Amino acid sequence: MRTDPLAYLGHELDALKEQNLYRRLRILDGEQKAHTSFDHRSVVNLSSNNYLGLTTHPRLRERALKAIEEFGVGSGSVRTIAGTMAIHMELERRLAEFKHVEAVVVFQSGFAANAGTVSAVLNKEDVVISDSLNHASIIDGCRLSRAAIKVFPHKDVDAARAIIKDLPTDQRKLLITDGVFSMDGDLGPLPDLCALAEETGCIMMVDDAHASGVFGKNGRGTVDHFGMHGRVDIQVGTLSKAIGALGGYVAGNKNLIEFLYHRARPFLFSTSHPPAVAAACIAALDVLMEEPQIIDQLWDNTRFFKAGLERLGFDTGLSESPITPVIAGDSAKANALSDRLFQEGVFAQAIAFPTVARDKARVRTIVTATHSREDLRYALDAFEKVGKELELV
Ligand SMILES: *Cc1c(COP(=O)(O)O)cnc(C)c1O
Repeated sequence: MRTDPLAYLGHELDALKEQNLYRRLRILDGEQKAHTSFDHRSVVNLSSNNYLGLTTHPRLRERALKAIEEFGVGSGSVRTIAGTMAIHMELERRLAEFKHVEAVVVFQSGFAANAGTVSAVLNKEDVVISDSLNHASIIDGCRLSRAAIKVFPHKDVDAARAIIKDLPTDQRKLLITDGVFSMDGDLGPLPDLCALAEETGCIMMVDDAHASGVFGKNGRGTVDHFGMHGRVDIQVGTLSKAIGALGGYVAGNKNLIEFLYHRARPFLFSTSHPPAVAAACIAALDVLMEEPQIIDQLWDNTRFFKAGLERLGFDTGLSESPITPVIAGDSAKANALSDRLFQEGVFAQAIAFPTVARDKARVRTIVTATHSREDLRYALDAFEKVGKELELV
């Protein structure tokens, strides 16, 4: 019998266990909701990106079911061969109108949108100037493009300017930031970055995954929130978080979108969304336009919960969004906090290296519009009890 050539992976996993970086998947027993059951335990769920409760919204469910009845369950092809259905085009038109841009292309995920776009618009002669905390899908897109990657310290616009000033003026440059940073919940310095991009001739790109449906009028994102319409060349959004379904999109001018139709590899080489997903996303846009009060409810809950955590004395970092980290220190401490909270009926996932720095391990909390005050008070009581136990407060 031959020896297992993958045996080294077992050793790697053992090393993760020794470093407290090994994790088991929590299994959701039913629907993705604010109060639900994971691993057969009823918990207040502070770990999903389902900001507006749209994963189970009746209008989305109904439209998805109707699309299955009318169009079946699969699209059967990539977009560029036979997999562009009328409902895909309708979703792109609706998103373009919503975002006040010329055109939009939808990808299978936000990850595919970022990685596919950066790698398509740049090549090895070009350079990316990227915030140190930008999302992994941006980093992968940069790597695939083979462009040079220059990282500036988190939100440090002066450092970004110094990097750009050192580059040849005729080199093509992409300046890129997350709109909302996913592990800290703070906002990218969009107005200053847009000014820098204009001053230095950079292409300006924003990944608004956590801002889609959360920031700006009707959830249009950080470009709307900061009044930057027309000043960001490439906007990426996700349909997988607040929008409640699955997908990512790129918003920009017609040339950008048509070029991505021809060159973005996930668009060319991976099958398009099932019609039910596109239908659910269209219904979500209707909800954002017709029931914007759910966004107000999200922010109301956010203010209540943040104030509660701060009153208890937790280190919640610099968040400006419904994402509130509770920083615990090393990964063992963050895991202990998350595990004890779970036993107390609160699910807040621990996040550790390599997603965040080794000494900044945390549990990340995300409240949604659909948490009741009772849910949030219950969670705060659990944080108080466990925080004292672990000497975090
Ligand atoms: C979640 C996320 C993505 C990926 O979006 P998906 O639709 O889940 O693939 C991209 N960028 C950022 C900043 C994210 O937080």
